[in-house]
Amino acid sequence: MTEPTPVRIRPEIAGLPPYRQGKQAAADAFKLSSNENPFDPLPHVAEVLRSRVDVNRYPDATAARLRDRLAARYGVAPDEVHIGAGSVALLYQLVQAAAGAGDEVIYAWRSFEAYPSMVVVSGAERVEVPLTADGRHDLPAMAAAVTDRTRVIVVCSPNNPTGPVVTQREFDDFVQAVPGDVLIILDEAYAEFVTAPDAVDGLRELGIVRPNVVALRTFSKAYGLAGLRVGYAIGHRRVLDAARATAIPLSVTAQAEEAALASLDAEDELRARVRVIADRRDRLAAGLREAGWDVPEAQGNFVWLATGAQTLEAAAAFEAGNVIVRAFAGDGIRVTVGEAESVDEVLRIAASIVDTLPEGHRGRRLR
Ligand code: PMP
Repeated sequence: MTEPTPVRIRPEIAGLPPYRQGKQAAADAFKLSSNENPFDPLPHVAEVLRSRVDVNRYPDATAARLRDRLAARYGVAPDEVHIGAGSVALLYQLVQAAAGAGDEVIYAWRSFEAYPSMVVVSGAERVEVPLTADGRHDLPAMAAAVTDRTRVIVVCSPNNPTGPVVTQREFDDFVQAVPGDVLIILDEAYAEFVTAPDAVDGLRELGIVRPNVVALRTFSKAYGLAGLRVGYAIGHRRVLDAARATAIPLSVTAQAEEAALASLDAEDELRARVRVIADRRDRLAAGLREAGWDVPEAQGNFVWLATGAQTLEAAAAFEAGNVIVRAFAGDGIRVTVGEAESVDEVLRIAASIVDTLPEGHRGRRLR
């Protein structure tokens, strides 16, 4: 039994485990457990960080320079952009703004592991709609799960941890099927890695045509600024006002804002890096399939191995080979696309695991 709390804590919070981070790795191991970017910061970005030392001052509460820059880039008004300390902060703000006790929040499962806690913290109820067998969102089932208590639906494309995208067509049909007063959060943390031409692009119509859709993007993944915590939401100004009202004030630091601006100055270089990672991902996924793995469409900077009941043994085999992966017990393993040298290591270890899976295992390709 867990130790009782000395003060009265909301029971659902007292029973809630803290966010479980990807495992840390020894210096000589590949850390492929957190979907981080393997590249060092661009010299230009590192220089900006070194020069920004006035830490005795508070940052600008709205990160207005970054907001204006993104607004100009996407052709929207500044108040249709909202900056947060990572897109996870924006997720929490939006859910808190729209859902409370007695309400429901729908998301696909398995998906980003912060979703369940974010809903519990808001006081609302979780409605988890299983992914299809190939790791995709089942959007018709998600639309069918809507009740008059539904306030928010989160759609994650590409889906962390399984990898497939939602197509634009699927998303358009979904938006049509959902009542217009339900907030749809399109979590596109990995959007920059997407190469599938039919994938949804939340910034295509920018929440203006669809006032109930908010798109979330981040500087953590493609831009390699995970340690600085900065992401953004684009959507209807009144919806974003509600998120701004629930935000912890002043949580986006001046360093994060400056580094994001500097990254936007260096986009050509960053895009080239993203292409390298996407190519490496395709090579990794192809190699895994060749070895006998049934790898779902991989459109983020990670691949999914459906190791099922063998997950912990498989993760241990990776760890023994100095590769730290993310294991979801009973379900599967997510492997981040990391350094170039990590690819062959992952392939070597994964090939040794697949042969240990029983015939007919869902992680294996049918031959
Ligand atoms: N959404 C998804 C789907 C993610 O995988 C992550 C990070 N793992 C986030 C949001 C949050 O990223 P950040 O807060 O660093 O922007």
